[in-house]
Amino acid sequence: DEFTRKHLRGLQETTCAMIKPDAMCAAGKIIECILSNGLLIKHMRMCQLSRKEAEEFYQVHKGKPFYEALILLVSSGPVIAMELVGENALCRWRFLLGPTSTEVARIKAPSSIRAQYGSDTTRNACHGSDTHENARIETLFFFKCWNMGMCARFRNCTLCIIK
Ligand code: UDP
Repeated sequence: DEFTRKHLRGLQETTCAMIKPDAMCAAGKIIECILSNGLLIKHMRMCQLSRKEAEEFYQVHKGKPFYEALILLVSSGPVIAMELVGENALCRWRFLLGPTSTEVARIKAPSSIRAQYGSDTTRNACHGSDTHENARIETLFFFKCWNMGMCARFRNCTLCIIK
């Protein structure tokens, strides 16, 4: 029935997560945190975004005072992108992240990922989609070419190297 369908859809909710370059040294702990909190990793890939790709990913923030710092950060080194799946995955991942600012996170949510592994408001360890629509767009951004068996989209992608 409709209730069961809705419930099952809820269990299968997906969201897009990204470990930013500043927290790659804590990638193992962050992945452990994801899995031990009942979220599953449906897709995962490591790659380095070019400036152009970083600008595409964060286009909604263009013009904001922190935009340039954000683009420089996310294109400065490898990232790990993940499609997470689970019940209320979007909200649960954002809850695990904590507030945007590392400083605020350390006060309000000291056990959150950003409190533990972030450095400041820009270098805040991880990204999480804020809406279901953005989750869909961001997941496509990272995993669109997943089924092609090769990565046409990103340079320096681990999949390309393996191939
Ligand atoms: N950011 C920043 N300064 C700010 C707000 C945001 O450097 O005052 C950066 C930070 O890395 C953040 C990203 O821009 O994760 C996207 O901002 P958003 O407001 O969407 O925060 P989020 O959803 O990531 O918590």
